[in-house]
Amino acid sequence: MHKKLFIPGPVEVYPDALKVMGTPMIGHRTKDYSTLHGRVKEKIQRFLYTKNKVFFSTSSGTGVMEACLRNCVAKRAACFPCGAFGERWYKMAAVNGKEADNLGVEMGKAIKPEVVDKALSTGKYDVALITHNETSSGVMNPLEEIGNVLKKYPDVLFLVDAVSAMAGAKIEVDKWGIDVCLASTQKGFALPPGFSLFSISEKALARAKQVPNRGYYFDFLEFDKFDAKNQTPTTPSISHLYALDHQLDKFFAEGLDKRFERHQKMAKMCRDWVIENGFKLFPEPGYESVTMTTADNTRNIDIGKINAALAEKGFIISAGYGKLKAQTFRIAHMGDTQPEELSELLAVLKEIIGTHA
Ligand SMILES: *Cc1c(COP(=O)(O)O)cnc(C)c1O
Repeated sequence: MHKKLFIPGPVEVYPDALKVMGTPMIGHRTKDYSTLHGRVKEKIQRFLYTKNKVFFSTSSGTGVMEACLRNCVAKRAACFPCGAFGERWYKMAAVNGKEADNLGVEMGKAIKPEVVDKALSTGKYDVALITHNETSSGVMNPLEEIGNVLKKYPDVLFLVDAVSAMAGAKIEVDKWGIDVCLASTQKGFALPPGFSLFSISEKALARAKQVPNRGYYFDFLEFDKFDAKNQTPTTPSISHLYALDHQLDKFFAEGLDKRFERHQKMAKMCRDWVIENGFKLFPEPGYESVTMTTADNTRNIDIGKINAALAEKGFIISAGYGKLKAQTFRIAHMGDTQPEELSELLAVLKEIIGTHA
């Protein structure tokens, strides 16, 4: 039996989107392709409230994270991790030969604007790396406030990993001053994994021109050259572009504000459930994610056993991440998930915990 995914990626892909993934191929250097590429690009721009360019990468999101370091760091990167995905960016800097500092906070805590301000005021950095939604802890960082701090430092690029936030939380790229905003398709967009997209500012492209050794596959300047023709440097996953086109039409038909409200509603339902069932919320108050809920496992339930019982009912949730494996558990409410489906899961989960605790 298929288990409906309530894990923070990949998320459930609905049958209509799966069907569109199966559309017959076209050549990636044809007019038909450029029309599709250009159309999806414009929809993403509308979706992210930006006039910045939008590039597509046939890789998971991690590829674009690495590209940010290779293309944008000339001097030194300020990394602000608050969990495993932020730490990934810091580790990547080292293996790519980039100077970087880890200015992070412990898991469960958010990155506050003051922390960013203090670090950038040293003048040591030319990029700030921020995770919008830290999927390992379930913390959502205050991106707009951090963006306001970055406005004081025009020489510092604001690079955002929005993999688990985009298409669930509203992101206003231009207003918030984001230079690169990246996400992959298997989370908020509710599509299969293997494809990513990102908005990129002229400032970030200008920086790339000054940075040597940008690599081959992820060279932003190559992406830019091909973008002028509504193409990608190498053969893209055309199936994903068809499906993104379809998903974005669905998002606009739902209404963007309605979509973001639906996610907030599901987040509230899930947080209320956590409290009502005798657990606590893991993130510090006020910084809980809207796309997933991380519960502090205060009742010490065995998530392995719970998931085995859930599987029989056709659902799956996530244990904690890394060292938080037993201490927390995570329920994702991303993408196309509807409140009624989440209710159904939460009711079954309550019943199972009742019999297994
Ligand atoms: C899932 C995730 C990633 C990794 O994305 P991939 O597409 O698997 O490379 C990076 N950052 C965050 C915040 C994530 O949730």
